[in-house]
Amino acid sequence: MRLVIVGASGRMGLAIARVAASTNGVKIVGAVDRPDAPGCGRDIGELAGVGAIGVSLSADLPAVLVGADVMVDFSAPTATARNLAAAAAAGVAALVGTTGLDAAAQSAANDAARRVPVIIAANTSLGVTLLIELVRAASYALPEDFDIEIIEGHHRHKKDAPSGTALALGHAAAEGRSVSLDSVAVPARTGGERERGEIGFAVVRGGDIVGDHTVLFAGEGERVSLVHQATDRAIFARGAVRAASWLSGRTPGRYEMRDVLPFKTRA
Ligand code: NAD
Repeated sequence: MRLVIVGASGRMGLAIARVAASTNGVKIVGAVDRPDAPGCGRDIGELAGVGAIGVSLSADLPAVLVGADVMVDFSAPTATARNLAAAAAAGVAALVGTTGLDAAAQSAANDAARRVPVIIAANTSLGVTLLIELVRAASYALPEDFDIEIIEGHHRHKKDAPSGTALALGHAAAEGRSVSLDSVAVPARTGGERERGEIGFAVVRGGDIVGDHTVLFAGEGERVSLVHQATDRAIFARGAVRAASWLSGRTPGRYEMRDVLPFKTRA
């Protein structure tokens, strides 16, 4: 799989370069960042600390897309629509991990998906992808007298609360009960009795916590907890490279991270 990394000299771009460089069957053929990015013109392998691989950091996305199979974009939301259009024009599949996408970027993803396979994923961890599906299934299976609470913890510098992943878990739990999250969410609980059907969020911020998420189903006399704990940001890079490999050669269309995992359904 011939891979182009966009946002290549950022934290995620370099993490993806490290994973891709050591993954059999994956070859980095392009690394793109802004023209003023420090490191432009330097070998992306050297920038990532894995030794030269013969691919220089460039600002010319259309040029490096020629002959590529998949573009992974972990750059900036303002760049995503243009990057998707370039990938579609070149017939290159696209995995966008950039978060905070606006309506224009979402519509660019739909346009691109008419010509190439596309995944937009705010969380590329395979563990979180699995957790979301487990939560959807548990919420569907358990009666409404199991109260659902989502507890998440992150480092002290995190800007948003609850986290995007906690909200995605909340949406999955709400979908399992065929309700919209907006109609049942309690984003920050203060005082008062809990109402039936609510989905509550509790947020912890402190230290260097990479990302912990627990979804609690609390019934009368029993509790079920579904837990994911991230200890290393490399999980996002590993999931991204796996999803990119999965995307390569698919028919055009919109896909999701859950499509990448082989869920076994009952015969
Ligand atoms: P970062 O700031 O370290 O890196 C972003 C890189 O993109 C920088 O090198 C920047 O110069 C480059 N860039 C900006 N505009 C560009 C453009 N027009 N063209 C090419 N390159 C451009 O940030 P980061 O921590 O690597 O995160 C990048 C994005 O990925 C953010 O949106 C972040 O929220 C998201 N993210 C997603 C996941 C996930 O699982 N999907 C995980 C972590 C981060």
